[in-house]
Amino acid sequence: MSNVEDLDKLDHQSPVVELVETKGHTSGADWLARYSTSLMGVFGTPQRVLVRGAGCLVWDADGKEYLDLLGGIAVNALGHAHPFVTSVISSQLATLGHVSNFFTSPTQIALAEKLLALTHAPAGSKVFFTNSGTEANEAAFKLARRNGAGPDGTTGKRTKIIALEGAFHGRTMGALALTAKKAYRLPFEPLPGGVVHIPFGDVAALEAAIDETVAAVFLEPIQGEAGVRPLPPGYLKAAREATTKAGALLILDEVQTGIGRTGKWLATEDAGIVPDAVTLAKGLGGGFPIGALLTFGERTSSLLSAGQHGTTFGGNPVATAAALATLHAIESQRVLENVALVGDYLRTGLAAVDGVTEVRGEGLLIGFDLDADVAPAVVTAGLDAGFIVNSPGPHTIRLAPPLILTKDQAGTFLAALPALLQTAKDAQ
Ligand SMILES: *Cc1c(COP(=O)(O)O)cnc(C)c1O
Repeated sequence: MSNVEDLDKLDHQSPVVELVETKGHTSGADWLARYSTSLMGVFGTPQRVLVRGAGCLVWDADGKEYLDLLGGIAVNALGHAHPFVTSVISSQLATLGHVSNFFTSPTQIALAEKLLALTHAPAGSKVFFTNSGTEANEAAFKLARRNGAGPDGTTGKRTKIIALEGAFHGRTMGALALTAKKAYRLPFEPLPGGVVHIPFGDVAALEAAIDETVAAVFLEPIQGEAGVRPLPPGYLKAAREATTKAGALLILDEVQTGIGRTGKWLATEDAGIVPDAVTLAKGLGGGFPIGALLTFGERTSSLLSAGQHGTTFGGNPVATAAALATLHAIESQRVLENVALVGDYLRTGLAAVDGVTEVRGEGLLIGFDLDADVAPAVVTAGLDAGFIVNSPGPHTIRLAPPLILTKDQAGTFLAALPALLQTAKDAQ
């Protein structure tokens, strides 16, 4: 393609598939061979090559159908190819796709207003848009560094940030410093300094760790990557009291738990506290990449001043339109009620399965433990039987399906699970 005239000759109706050279080989095995020679090996070998989705179903390159009980890791809130979200994204893209943050656009402003309204944010609250969860947490990390900062532009005496053992906050350097897992951290040290990890769910340890040298406390209401571990009751209240007393920020990472995942807009909305900031991503765009940092109240919202943070893509018209469409569909189709209903049905059903020793989580973020270290084998058996699930640990399975999962669909998994467990144990 050498000039504008040639570009105009492109067939605008041509499907994406014509841009993908199949070289006459289209099986999953063929694609994976090409994958391994061209994609960086950080994800291991992909489990399947997926080519199409509709609702809670996806299909692989070999034509096999799966019930998607992972939803792109809590991302595909409305399943795959949701007609309303698809049409809003397409029409925004055909109207105005990108403008940079020298400019703004109506969808960006409308989405910020909508998020502040849905989260009951107090007056003076603000939003910063990002492209991912880790970027939302990077922004929150920088916000924390400005807490207690001197007017001379230095960061001041609040040098510490508290996070929890088991925490996952992302893979970029700041978010990685907040993430607890040694295997993720050690290969990349030194990480941004001052982060202290304290025991999970231990109020006494939290109170002992917080003093006037602490800039912020980062908490996930339910630790997803650690196997769907909810904070114990009362912990958030204690954290709010201790941070308020010491002048530290309370920052909630709702990247996985937010936007309806637990049957509420925020997992923490009934906790009886107002945090200083909340990070969102995963489900926010219904599959389209977008994240956000919400800062609550005037003081926190003015910590980052003009020029202190930025992003090229963050808050672009298409991403913010995708999120507006997702929020609208969740509201108008009463999806939160479905999350509560199907979530309870799944948890009750799972608890009754022989070999399941514990069921955790809220809404459609569910973790369950098995009586043997066969979780990876259950994932494999699930794929063979047409179910996509995930194992965050050797004896733990995580489900984070589309929020539109039906009771019937959930029932097919419950019916299949005993056989999957048996297959996994036999394979040992
Ligand atoms: C997934 C996740 C992140 C990181 O989000 P990315 O979009 O993968 O960068 C951060 N925090 C939590 C709690 C998450 O689940």
